[in-house]
Amino acid sequence: MVSPFSDVIVGAVITRRSRVLGSDVMSHDVLDRRACDRARLARDARFDGRFFTGVLTTRIYCRPTCPVKPAQSRNVVFFATAAAAERAGFRPCLRCRPEAAPGTPAWRGVAASVSRALRLIERGFLDDGRSVDDLADTLGMTARHLRRLFLRHAGASPTAVAATRRVQRAKTLIDETTLPMSAIAFAAGFTSIRRFNAAFRAVYRRPPSALRRRRARRQSPADTVAARQMRRASLSMLSATTAAAARKVHASVNAAP
Ligand SMILES: [Zn+2]
Repeated sequence: MVSPFSDVIVGAVITRRSRVLGSDVMSHDVLDRRACDRARLARDARFDGRFFTGVLTTRIYCRPTCPVKPAQSRNVVFFATAAAAERAGFRPCLRCRPEAAPGTPAWRGVAASVSRALRLIERGFLDDGRSVDDLADTLGMTARHLRRLFLRHAGASPTAVAATRRVQRAKTLIDETTLPMSAIAFAAGFTSIRRFNAAFRAVYRRPPSALRRRRARRQSPADTVAARQMRRASLSMLSATTAAAARKVHASVNAAP
């Protein structure tokens, strides 16, 4: 199978001064900007999980398939992983839920050792007291080399990738279960509830309970069929108004000399 990303990975790693961080931190980029931009504007599902789009005006990052109206191209930056986007100060979108993206970033194909490290992190290697040195040992390389590979291909350190995965696992459990927060914290790989709360707040800019409240509101009995119909009706009214306005503009443009 031909990877849809085969024309996206560039041979050399492009190193550029990061405007996103507003500091002297250098960000490494293995993504082709134009290809990513085309993919997100087309909401091309083949690219889901292969890169994330950071919107500079909102500081939110999205999957390429996000249902929200795409931001202008000059206002977006691309990241190989969710961890890299978070490291640059973006928070996950609550609409497209980056934590639910398929975990197959293109850069996994770049280095077998990196994909092995990722799978180990995914299974909780760095959640049970073992260090990046232990991880490097398991892979038969030095920790320094492993960190270098991660920065180059993932845009984030193994520790940052593990931290992002913990918060992502917790977010999925909040969305999909009714488990109490304490159970979610430990199930997601956190060693304490305090750490869970702190990590979650740092990523989502709100406590975990706020996201559960959102869900509770959405599914409360008050959210009746009538309420949904009303919302739909006002939405279609809005689009009808927009269409009428567009027709008017079009007509006046055509009428102009
Ligand atoms: Zn989104």
